[in-house]
Amino acid sequence: MITLALSKGRIFEETVPLLAAAGIVPLEAPEQSRKLIIGTNREDVRLIIVRASDVPTYVEYGAADIGIAGKDVLHEHGGNGLYMPLDLNIAKCKLMVAVRKGFDYEAATKRGSRLRVATKYTDSAREHFANKGVHVDLIKLYGSMELAPLVGLADAIVDLVSTGGTLKANNLEAVEHIYDVSSRLIANQASLKLKRDRLQPILDAFAGAVSKD
Ligand code: ADP
Ligand code: MG
Repeated sequence: MITLALSKGRIFEETVPLLAAAGIVPLEAPEQSRKLIIGTNREDVRLIIVRASDVPTYVEYGAADIGIAGKDVLHEHGGNGLYMPLDLNIAKCKLMVAVRKGFDYEAATKRGSRLRVATKYTDSAREHFANKGVHVDLIKLYGSMELAPLVGLADAIVDLVSTGGTLKANNLEAVEHIYDVSSRLIANQASLKLKRDRLQPILDAFAGAVSKD
């Protein structure tokens, strides 16, 4: 059996065409069936639906042979025991710093000052502000980061942005780009060795189907 771990929503939807290129068709849609293990037209291939940030863990421990996860998640996870063979160029967005409209970010990041930053991405944020030489107090959140500057929990947030619609709806603006995000295919190193003959054609089909833009 080959097990592919991925999250529902955007990543699942954008993975379906890549799977199709490998001749793999899921038998159900996770949003509808609510099943966590989804069979495919191939008896030896199944999908498991996990939280986006849990994908690297399933692959690291070999509970999944391969997985699909955003660069944001992989950066926070650290990539222990993972082989990262391919950028799938899907679920693209940017990790950015955002503040309330009108907040003087320049002044707030001058030498000597401290900035309160709320984020799910504490490692990426710590690294970014350390490189800038800005002192930060990081506040770990698990979602709805946009709320933090509006109610005085933080001066700034570090979050994923694609259209900017959510920021705009909450009177926030992006002030700094940290890195571009897309989803990557990751593989368990032992699986790659033991199941190479069946994994390689899938990896090759994905590589051939990746859009280059
Ligand atoms: P969570 O499980 O925390 O709700 P999300 O559903 O927000 O995670 O995001 C899952 C993954 O999808 C992220 O790790 C990221 O790589 C990608 N992603 C998140 N937001 C966007 C976005 N606005 N545009 C494109 N990709 C995104
Ligand atoms: Mg979500």
